[in-house]
Amino acid sequence: MTTQVEVLDPTRQILQKVFGYTHFRPHQAEIINHVIAGGDALVIMPTGGGKSVCYQIPALLRPGTGVVVSPLIALMHDQVSALRQNGVRAAFLNSTLAPEAAGKVEQALLAEELDLLYVAPERLLQPRILELLARARIALFAIDEAHCVSQWGHDFRPEYMQLSRLHERFPKVPRIALTATADAPTRGEIVERLALHEAHTFIAGFDRPNIRYRLAEGGGNARERLLRFIREEHEGEAGIVYCLSRRKVEETAAWLSARGLTALPYHAGLPASERMNTQERFLREESVIVVATIAFGMGIDKPDVRFVAHLNLPRSLEAYYQETGRAGRDGLPADAWMLYGLQDVITLRQMQDNSQADEAYKRIERHKLEAMLGFCELTTCRRQALLRYFGDTLDAPCGNCDNCLSPPATWDATEAARKALSCVYRTGQRFGVNYLIDVLLGKDEPRIKQFGHDLVSTFGIGQELPAEDWRGVFRQMIARGLLAVDLQGHGGLRLTEASRPVLRGESKVQLRRRERIRSKAQSHRRERRRFAKSADRALWEALRARRSVLAEAEGLPAYMIFSDAMLADMAGVPGVGEHKLKAYASDFLEVLKSNAAAANPVSVVETVEESLLLYRAGMDVEAVARHRGLRAETIYQHFADAIGRGEMSAAEATGLEDVELDSIRQAFAMHGDERLKPVFDSLDKAYSYGILHCVRAEFRHKHQ
Ligand code: ADP
Ligand code: ZN
Repeated sequence: MTTQVEVLDPTRQILQKVFGYTHFRPHQAEIINHVIAGGDALVIMPTGGGKSVCYQIPALLRPGTGVVVSPLIALMHDQVSALRQNGVRAAFLNSTLAPEAAGKVEQALLAEELDLLYVAPERLLQPRILELLARARIALFAIDEAHCVSQWGHDFRPEYMQLSRLHERFPKVPRIALTATADAPTRGEIVERLALHEAHTFIAGFDRPNIRYRLAEGGGNARERLLRFIREEHEGEAGIVYCLSRRKVEETAAWLSARGLTALPYHAGLPASERMNTQERFLREESVIVVATIAFGMGIDKPDVRFVAHLNLPRSLEAYYQETGRAGRDGLPADAWMLYGLQDVITLRQMQDNSQADEAYKRIERHKLEAMLGFCELTTCRRQALLRYFGDTLDAPCGNCDNCLSPPATWDATEAARKALSCVYRTGQRFGVNYLIDVLLGKDEPRIKQFGHDLVSTFGIGQELPAEDWRGVFRQMIARGLLAVDLQGHGGLRLTEASRPVLRGESKVQLRRRERIRSKAQSHRRERRRFAKSADRALWEALRARRSVLAEAEGLPAYMIFSDAMLADMAGVPGVGEHKLKAYASDFLEVLKSNAAAANPVSVVETVEESLLLYRAGMDVEAVARHRGLRAETIYQHFADAIGRGEMSAAEATGLEDVELDSIRQAFAMHGDERLKPVFDSLDKAYSYGILHCVRAEFRHKHQ
């Protein structure tokens, strides 16, 4: 009896049959039932939370067609294709459609042959279309990206302001407005401008547990570190790299491309056709990296973005959350990786101070940047802080951010902070960080002599710290408001109210130790369920390959055939939509079967051989080590053995590119290959001893 109720729930049935999911995510069921019953709804759900089914299922269950207003014309085609793949009768109306095609869609609407119709806002409001809608049967209006009504936001669309007319014209049709933008003022604006006073507001949790937050300060080698991060953890996967300026976007994309990655630039200054093409490729191909300014990403509906990297500081935590939220929408592990620097802080401060906005607005922006900086310098759980900022709570540290995984070291920087502050004061509160550091280090610079600053009491008092550490001190002090950047825009530093107690020795300053995002051998590699066993990996690759072939044949993005999550689950095949199952089952079953036949267990006793075998089957070094109960360094030793026998190359063993290998080889040539430590140090400790063992083995093999 009780199970019957389950089975009969029509919303669950549709979720399973049409979309192939077994369970609703939090809030989806409530929202769907509310709209089916004819209520208005305002849905605030993070990107990737699963907003679409909240209007798609009611549209399927209510009589008539669900009309979806979306500003993202470029994506409509894909959204509609995805729905059709699932057997839903969907269509769109926008400026890309030829008149005859549009005519057909309109006929289908009147004939009640459509479940869902996607319409661009400017088209929807044309009198002719409003007339058309009045003659059709409308199940609901869904207003996607509803924050576009907000004049304060970055995505303001004037057409959205007119959407309240829908309510006047069709008072009985339920409306559901959806957005990922959380803050209360925006919410208020949406209610006001869309006349949603009667709507029930649903606010879904903001936690994205599968995203791992990792932040570190970047030095001059940020690009190399980005490359290493991609190579080591996301080879062949899709990602987004955000930069602040168009120039940096272009440089970074070119630099990554020159190193063999598919990296495409995207910013508002590029021709529309090129941007469209980039977006298309990102959606359709599997391993495209888009390097972008913030202009890229709104509404990008790609579930398998495996990483979002920031090479600059975002201007607020809202922006950071929204941008990082584009990773891992399929629920599989994803990285939010960021390098930030002192220059970012100064640039953003200057941009704010020089902007034409009114004082109140500037003040808000300043606070937002401060919150962002505070987040960077945090030494406790990032996720807890992020959620707290959005009014959400997480009771315990998350265990999936850098600070949880390896708590950062801090040091008592009170003395250093006092020296920095007095140096700012003694030199007249008008010089930038580089100059101040030169004075602290007692550098022999003509400019310092010219100003007579070689005579001030702070000249040369900071020699106990290297310049890099002083940068960290200054950056963190600015972040904490202990120093302010000047308004004129030259980056000069001055004291603040908060500087005083520190200068007087009344308050202590605890700072984060300088550190890097860990390099290969030390890093916490992600335990990807799908790569847990080498056999899984092979099967995974086979399924992915088959998917690519099917996707290409159908002209669809691969994830629309089956998502990564579905492929990963395919062994048990839970919840694949019926329509898709019929269409593709035989193809995938074939792969599954042939794989099962080939997977006979191999037992290798020889320890070096076994490490090699596992590695070559697709495990990374960390995984091999874990699997064998050995340390990663030991696995590298095994590789070094193999290299010494000419059975492996250092490139294969380390996964490093030639440029990097060359720099290591050069270090061996320079320091000799007897001892590893001098080489390790000369390379800035960037490569583990395990990696050095491998390169040395090759070096010796070649020179013997
Ligand atoms: P949003 O519009 O909120 O950013 P989407 O509606 O695009 O998110 O959904 C994000 C991803 O989650 C999509 O890949 C979607 O298919 C998937 N999804 C949505 N609802 C469920 C569910 N109940 N179970 C599993 N996956 C879901
Ligand atoms: Zn954490």
